[in-house]
Amino acid sequence: MFSHLILLLAAVTIYGCAQQPYSATNKVYRKQAKQYAKILKQQPSPFPVNEAPAVSGWIGTTNFNMRKPNYVIIHHTAQGSCDTTFRTFTLTRTQVSAHYVVCRDGSVHHMLNDYLRAWHAGLSKWGNVTDMNSGSIGIELDNDGLSPFQPQQINSLLILLDTLRHRYNIPTANFIGHGDIAPSRKVDPSAYFPWQELAGKGFGLWYDTTGVIVPEGFNALQALRIVGYDTRDSTATIKAFKRHFIPADSTTGTNLDEEEKKILFSIMQKSE
Ligand SMILES: [Zn+2]
Repeated sequence: MFSHLILLLAAVTIYGCAQQPYSATNKVYRKQAKQYAKILKQQPSPFPVNEAPAVSGWIGTTNFNMRKPNYVIIHHTAQGSCDTTFRTFTLTRTQVSAHYVVCRDGSVHHMLNDYLRAWHAGLSKWGNVTDMNSGSIGIELDNDGLSPFQPQQINSLLILLDTLRHRYNIPTANFIGHGDIAPSRKVDPSAYFPWQELAGKGFGLWYDTTGVIVPEGFNALQALRIVGYDTRDSTATIKAFKRHFIPADSTTGTNLDEEEKKILFSIMQKSE
């Protein structure tokens, strides 16, 4: 009887390991989350030693909640499978992560509490925001960067975005891509990404050039800056803009023709 029990326990353990390949990293996650919870409980909150202001006492206010994400940054993984991405995001040495991974079959994997800071944006800028990781949710779509996205994957993404928008009250214009906030470093999501479809559902801006007349002396770079782009590398910025808003023309040149200037002018007006 006892040996049967041992066998059963062994079987359960082996089955459990096979089912839970990430149980070890989940344990690390819980430990780290606990450490941050400890920091949240500190009264007063800790300041770096040499920057400590003269605080004469602690009086806890009764009125507060958690800081919320205000942007959603969309990525493609440029990897071969979700399994590869899960491994990448659970290895300490990679130093990269995201809140959500949406696989080709439409399954959604949550990898980090929305209130915590994932490491997905890297060196990036949108408007005057230079710490995109602190204020955003990162969503990775399993895609090699060279193929169209799967319809079931986009469906799942749309449901996820709807949830996030309602939960955190994220403005329409704040659904953007990694390539938008890091134009000189990143090209994701690719020109295959259906931004127009997303904008139709209220996730991100889209243009309407009906009756648009581009004013004399229109400054394209200034317009891109108003939209939010970091224009220090103007060639990369125009490429990023085209990839997002004019995907059919995103591989040709870095000039904007008259029609494309209308598109940019329209987006600029919607950004103001
Ligand atoms: Zn990315």
